[in-house]
Amino acid sequence: MNVLIAVLLAAAPAAPEVVLLRASRLVDGRGGPPLAPAMVRVEGERITAVASRLEVPPGARVIELGAATLLPGLIDLHTHLAGNPAVHWEDALVKTTPAQAALWGARNARVTLMSGVTTCRDMGTEWPYVDVELRDAIAAGAVPGPRLLVAGSYVSSTGGAGDPRQFSIYVDVPGARNLADGPEEIVKAVRTNFKHGADFIKVLATGAILSKGIAPGQQQYSDEELLAAVTEARRWGRRVAAHAHGIEGIKASIRAGIWTIDHGSMLDDEAVAMLKRQPSSYYVPTLYITNTIAASATVPDSEKARSRQMAAAKDTAFQRALRAGLPIGLASDAPVMPHGELAKEMAHRVGLGEPPSSTIVSATRVNAEILGWSDRVGTVEPGKWADLIAVAQDPLADIRAMEAVLFVMKAGVVYKAATPER
Ligand SMILES: [Zn+2]
Repeated sequence: MNVLIAVLLAAAPAAPEVVLLRASRLVDGRGGPPLAPAMVRVEGERITAVASRLEVPPGARVIELGAATLLPGLIDLHTHLAGNPAVHWEDALVKTTPAQAALWGARNARVTLMSGVTTCRDMGTEWPYVDVELRDAIAAGAVPGPRLLVAGSYVSSTGGAGDPRQFSIYVDVPGARNLADGPEEIVKAVRTNFKHGADFIKVLATGAILSKGIAPGQQQYSDEELLAAVTEARRWGRRVAAHAHGIEGIKASIRAGIWTIDHGSMLDDEAVAMLKRQPSSYYVPTLYITNTIAASATVPDSEKARSRQMAAAKDTAFQRALRAGLPIGLASDAPVMPHGELAKEMAHRVGLGEPPSSTIVSATRVNAEILGWSDRVGTVEPGKWADLIAVAQDPLADIRAMEAVLFVMKAGVVYKAATPER
């Protein structure tokens, strides 16, 4: 062989492996009728073809999923993966270490991936920036987990929902680095977050349920403070998510141009109308956690009472948004519910009147739109990353089928492959 040709051949990248998945049905995330039967061709990390029948080229690997239903990998828009779920967040900075948060984070990320969630927006951790390290370790293949967008160090006011110093004023909590009061400190907190690797900013616009600070219905950050966060984040080309339960905080967040209204518990008709006029702001409810908070052995009674007061309003707010036809994000708020149980949120929403097909579209295509990642995740279409999951039963007939994920592929790599029933 000519030496030059030999050198060129040696330097040419190997053609990516061709994998064909075959299942009885595909629910592709776009909301139309399922494709049955279904085949999906994956080359390297991308989907390259979808049809009822595809030719199997010589040397291709075939993954037979039998009677199972294929779906896009799920997206969870609100998780807190880093940290030991058994520790109340207000104790984390005085009773745990960043190492504990990271090791449990790796465990929680694996559990989440194996439940079919291939992308998460992580809303931050008590030990600042452990989520940045977790995101990067997953991306480098050091630990299995969903691909992450992370908040780094969530931003709270003094005495607010994210103030981790719930002790006597004489007790110092040196790990507390997330407090900012007034527009100037908020601008600094935004810059510090982006400097240290956060993908977006999370602010606590109102009080929280799992907190001893300001009540969840109360606005915590002023309109001016929220606007300062959004304005500075925009300079970096990035966005701000707001934890918001009370209606004044929800409306102030929408007015400030916040990206997502997380929880959105007291959402009223006026707030729904404001969101309709401003399609760059989204409502991301977290409903099922009402049940896990009520049953929790570690949540104090005072916080259970906060949750009970908010419970009915949350479900009503969701139904209001549903009737209005708002695009609704889907999220777990794990570990407030155990990691890996996003399907419980899906079932809760179906119980409130959302058709299973719409719930699946929320967890896939709509969540991808909210992330601004419609070009890469959320549906099973050629050109997208090969994030594919399979469940044994038909989730359009019974959404609880989503609780038993038997196959998980992320970017073309198989992480879970149980043998399905034929
Ligand atoms: Zn949360």
